[in-house]
Amino acid sequence: MPVLFIGHGSPMNIVSHNTYTQSLQSLSAALPRPKAILVVSAHWLTRGTYVNSAEKPEQIYDFYGVPHELYRIKYRPPGAPEIASSIVQDSRFKNIQVDKERGIDQGAWAVLLYLYPQADIPVLEMSIDMTMNEEDHYNFARKFSFLRRQKILIIGSGNIVQNLRQSEYMEDAQPFPWAVEFDSFIKDALLQKDTERLLHFRNISPAAELAVPTNDHYLPMLYIAALQEKGEEITFFHEGIQNGSVSMRSFIIQ
Ligand code: ZN
Repeated sequence: MPVLFIGHGSPMNIVSHNTYTQSLQSLSAALPRPKAILVVSAHWLTRGTYVNSAEKPEQIYDFYGVPHELYRIKYRPPGAPEIASSIVQDSRFKNIQVDKERGIDQGAWAVLLYLYPQADIPVLEMSIDMTMNEEDHYNFARKFSFLRRQKILIIGSGNIVQNLRQSEYMEDAQPFPWAVEFDSFIKDALLQKDTERLLHFRNISPAAELAVPTNDHYLPMLYIAALQEKGEEITFFHEGIQNGSVSMRSFIIQ
């Protein structure tokens, strides 16, 4: 299976028709059908790492101040409890726990809605342990490569640049210079497989302070970058900045 990083941006993308949603729809047509989908979502932040294991995970509408129509969008795929328990029982992952209650949040369903609109492939999520640093996350993520060979599609859902304090109301607002600068800094780091820059961006890029005020949306990208294997190519199937301060850059590695 390939691995995917998707910039999800504002929840308005759930109902918008724009170049970003078109990119997701075009990608959808080219994707293989996996046995299950594992999403590392910027919207599930925990102490310790969890995977959800409900048979029928609840759809979580984790957004506020948006039009009512967003709450009517349904995406209700089956869960993947067997895969969740196989992960927690694996001796490589002593610290991962199962969460039987947790559903599927916007970080996952807002993008799966476009990629697998039938909602007929089992989905599970993995949380982000906020007690770990970037390097810990990167090394931890690498251990999941075996899932790719079991036909499990791993998706990271976040945003390389996201500063909501500075964000503009209009989706097509002029991007802030620091947003453009940091987005292209990471693009180059990914193309050059420069792990040093991906992990220690704060010490290297002056734009990082405004571009990544908190790293919760950045970390899912690191999980996917970490899964690149020898000989695999990275393709940016969408790039652009929404609301002035949110990078929608998305990529596939295969
Ligand atoms: Zn988000």
